[in-house]
Amino acid sequence: MSELAFRTCPLCEATCGLEIEVKDDGSVGRIRGDRDDVFSRGFICPKGSTLKQLHEDPDRLRTPRVRGEDGELHPVKWDEAFAEVERRLLPIIEEHGRDAVAIYLGNPTVHSLSAVLYTRFLVRALGTTNVYSASTIDQRPKEISSGLLFGTSISFAVPDLDRTSYLLMLGANPFESNGSLATAPDWPGRLRGIVEREGRVVVVDPKRTKTAEEASEHVSIRPGTDALLLMAMVHVLFAEGLVDLGRLDGLVVGIEEVERVARDFTPEAVSSATAIDAATIRRLARELAAAETAAVYGRIGTCTQEFGTLASWLVDVLNILTGNLDRPGGAMFARPAAGGATTSGAPGRGRGVKLGRRASRVRGLPESYGELPVVCLAEEIDTPGPGQVRALVTVGGNPALSVPNSDRLQRAFRDLELMVSVDPYVNETTRHADVILPSPDVLTKGHYDVAFYQFALRNVANYSPPVLPPEADAMEEWKTIAKLALIAQGAGAAADPAVLDDMVIRGMVERAGLDPEQTLAELAPRVGPERMLDLMLRTGPYGLTLDQLLEHPHGIDLGPLEPRLPDVLRTASGMIEMGAEPFIADVPRLKAALDRTTNGGFVLIGRRHLRSNNSWMHNVTVLMKGKSRCTLQIHPDDARRLGLGDEAKVRSRAGAVVVAIEVTDAVMPGVVSLPHGWGHDLPGVEMKVARAHAGVNSNILADDDLFDPLSGNAVFNGIPVEVAPA
Ligand code: SF4
Repeated sequence: MSELAFRTCPLCEATCGLEIEVKDDGSVGRIRGDRDDVFSRGFICPKGSTLKQLHEDPDRLRTPRVRGEDGELHPVKWDEAFAEVERRLLPIIEEHGRDAVAIYLGNPTVHSLSAVLYTRFLVRALGTTNVYSASTIDQRPKEISSGLLFGTSISFAVPDLDRTSYLLMLGANPFESNGSLATAPDWPGRLRGIVEREGRVVVVDPKRTKTAEEASEHVSIRPGTDALLLMAMVHVLFAEGLVDLGRLDGLVVGIEEVERVARDFTPEAVSSATAIDAATIRRLARELAAAETAAVYGRIGTCTQEFGTLASWLVDVLNILTGNLDRPGGAMFARPAAGGATTSGAPGRGRGVKLGRRASRVRGLPESYGELPVVCLAEEIDTPGPGQVRALVTVGGNPALSVPNSDRLQRAFRDLELMVSVDPYVNETTRHADVILPSPDVLTKGHYDVAFYQFALRNVANYSPPVLPPEADAMEEWKTIAKLALIAQGAGAAADPAVLDDMVIRGMVERAGLDPEQTLAELAPRVGPERMLDLMLRTGPYGLTLDQLLEHPHGIDLGPLEPRLPDVLRTASGMIEMGAEPFIADVPRLKAALDRTTNGGFVLIGRRHLRSNNSWMHNVTVLMKGKSRCTLQIHPDDARRLGLGDEAKVRSRAGAVVVAIEVTDAVMPGVVSLPHGWGHDLPGVEMKVARAHAGVNSNILADDDLFDPLSGNAVFNGIPVEVAPA
C-alpha cells in the first residue's frame, strides 16, 4: 500500500508538478510527472524524480556541525550550534562594526519558500552593506534593465511562447536549462509548438546548442556581442520605417534618444565584431517587424557579458519598437497571485528604482537593489582596512564554485574569523565553515514559488504541503534563519523564532491596511511561511486563500497572460522609460567595441546540461551516469592547429586548469566551452558521488576584473583564454 502526494519540483524555474509515491513505511517510492498539474501536465525532466535520491542521500547533513579545536567539523545539537554563532559573531560586530559581516545568498534560496520569505529579515538584522547573491552572477543586468524600463527589479516581460508566431532567442538554451526568468514547464514542447504552428524560432548563440539544433534557424554570434547585434536591429527598424508601437503609443518615453544612439550601429558596422553578415541582421529585423506576433527573449548568455545590461535593455527595446510588448503572442507580464511587485501599490506608477546608492569599499563598484556585485566579495575579505569583511554567512550557496576567480575567493575564506553556512552539505564552500546549520530535506517542507510565479508564462498558483514528516533532529528552515537574525540583533541564541515571526506578520498586516486582530485571528493557527503566504494570497489580486490552494493539489489555473499596461508600470513617470539615462550613457562604451579587432586568441563560454543544476545535483548517482560532461569543447580546426591530445591547459588572467577536451564543430572556431559547477575534489568536501566525478572548476578561469559596469554582473561569456596542449 502506498499514497500519492503532489508537489511542485523546487529544483529549477520550470515549477513542474510531481506525483510522489509515499509507501506505508514512510519511504519514497516512484516519482513521476503529475499529469493533472495545471501548468506542467505531466512534463518532468531527469532531475525531477531525484528528490527521492536527495532525500535518501547519506551525505546530506541531518544535524549541525561546529568546527572544533582540532580543526574538524563535529556534529552538535542545535542549541550548541546557535550558541557558537552567538559567541563568535557578536564580538566581531562589536569590535569591527556590522559591515565586517557579509552575507551571500545562493540560487537555492529562491527555490525555498521559507528562505525567500525569511532571508530578507536576516539581511536586515545583520545590518551590513556587504550583501551578495547569485543575482550578480547571472541575472542582475535583466533586473536593472527591467527596473529602469518598467519600475521594479522583477518586471520581466516574458515571451508568450504558446501564442507567438516568431521567437528570437539569444543566449538561452532551454532544452538543457528548462528556461529561466520566464517560468514554464516543458520549454522544449512549447518551442516545438511554435514551429508546428508554422511560426519561426531563431536562436542566436555562439554554440550550436540542442535548442539551436531544434530551432528554425541558428545564427552563430561571436561571444559577448549580442548588444551590437540588437542595436543594429534597432537601427534597421528606424532606418527602414519599421517602428510601430501599436497600442504602446503614448506610453513610451525616450524614443528619440534611442533612435539617435542607434544611428552609428549599422549592420555593416557591427558585422565584423558579431561575425554576422549585414544581410542577415537586416533580415532578422525585417522578420521581427513583419511577424504577426513576435517576442525577443535573452537570457543568461546575454546577461553574463560585458554589455549585459545594454543587451537586456535592447531585447525589450525591440519588443517595444515592434509593438510586441504586452500583447498576446509578444512579451507579456505575469499577474502573480501572491507577493507581486507589480500588483501592489498604486497601479501604473511607483517609485521606480534607485541604483548606485553606495559603492563597494575596495573598488567602488555600485550597489544595486541592496547588494554589491559578487566580483567584489574576495577583495572585500582579503583587503585589510576599516570595513574589511571578517565573517561570512552563506545561505544555500556555493560561491567557492560559482564566483569568478574562485581560487582567490577560496584563499580569502581561510582569512575569515567566522563562517556560518545554512546548507545541507559539506561542499566546496561549507568545508570552510565554522558552523553549518543544515536546511531540512525539501520533501519535508511546504512549497510555493513566490519568486517564479512573478514571471511565469501563465498565471497559476500551486501550494504543496510537506510530503514527509520532519526528520528527527531537523529544524524548520525559517526557524534557523529567524534564529540567526535574532542572534545578530543581540536577542541571544535562546531567543524564540516565533517572536520575529509574530512581529513580521503583524507589520505585514498593518502595511496592508487590515485590522490586525481580526486578520491575525483569521490566519491562526498557521505560523511561519504558510501564515505569510496565506496573507499574501488574501491580499493578492485574486483574493485567494491557502485553504483554497490546499483544496487544489494540482494547482489553480488563473488563465493566460493578459495585457497589463499601463497598470503594471511602477516607474516614477508612469511611462516606459525606454531612453533612461543609464542606458544611453553606456552606449559610447558599446560603440568603442565596434573598433576592436579580434587578436586570434580564444574566448571561453559556459554551457548547461539537463542533468546538472549549477553545482548542486552532482551527488546524485543516477544523474552522473554516462560519459564525463566536464570537458572543454573546441572546434576541430583549432584542436588540429594546436596539436591537442586528450587534455588541454587553459589559462586566463585569473588562473589555469587542465581539462579533457571534446572536439566538436558545435562551437565556433576561436571559442571554447566549459561548463560551470564542477571541481568537487577539494579537501574536506563530503560528497562522495560528486568527488568521484569531480571535473574542473571553470570559475578558476573567470576573471573578477571582468564585469558589466552598469550592473556589476560577472562576465562568463567571452573570457579571453589561451589554450595549449597539457
Ligand atoms: S524541469 Fe525543473 S522543475 Fe521540472 S522536473 Fe526538471 S528540475 Fe524539476
